Amino acid sequence: MIIAANLKTNLTRKTTLDYLGELNSFIQKNHISQEVLVFPAMSSLNSCDGDVILGAQNAYATKNGAFTGEIGLEQLEEFSIKTILIGHSERRHILGETQEEIVKKFNYYKKLGFKIVYCVGEPLEKREAGKEEMMQYISSQYKGIDTMYENLIIAYEPVWAIGTGLTPTLVDIENIHTDLKAKSSAPLLYGGSVKVTNAKEVLTLKNVDGILVGSAALYVEHFCTMISYAQDLSQ
Ligand code: PEP
Repeated sequence: MIIAANLKTNLTRKTTLDYLGELNSFIQKNHISQEVLVFPAMSSLNSCDGDVILGAQNAYATKNGAFTGEIGLEQLEEFSIKTILIGHSERRHILGETQEEIVKKFNYYKKLGFKIVYCVGEPLEKREAGKEEMMQYISSQYKGIDTMYENLIIAYEPVWAIGTGLTPTLVDIENIHTDLKAKSSAPLLYGGSVKVTNAKEVLTLKNVDGILVGSAALYVEHFCTMISYAQDLSQ
């Protein structure tokens, strides 16, 4: 399974280092064989010698250049980062990234062979508009994306579930994941208010290949507990 932490705009360089140190020793001590990804804040990117795979929460589709406030390939290469999160709903909805920009970024990092965690998910009004409209909305987020890309991981993250404590029902998650698996056979993660108290049941669902965790992953011991659930379920 794939267990991923999106640390968003949290933790400093120092506290991220402590976090990764604890996480790596947990993984080693417990012989964890799951794929563990961590997306730290940009200023906390670093080389990582342990088992955790570090990824960027965002990067511009460029090697370098005049793109104030952005980082590009050159800054990722400094730390051998080969994993990137693309299409997160906070970038789509708060920072206004369009599907066109997202596709450009996707294609740039795909060409470089990056592992791409690509996020899709509907806002509340689309969910409330019914299944057909909701699926149409999610389908539009697949537009221009190579769903057969070998290093692709998809994360289904309903926007209304992110950071709110709300989640779809387990049946809903399973149904949507089944529909999304028909669009791409890439590993499919669920994200949106996953925490220690619901991670195990989400991980047992059909067509759920892992989880992407935000707020609850900020506590390294909680994140480790979720990893151990995945490890137990995979045996
Ligand atoms: C996320 O931001 O990807 C996420 C899943 O956040 P949270 O777990 O806080 O809902």
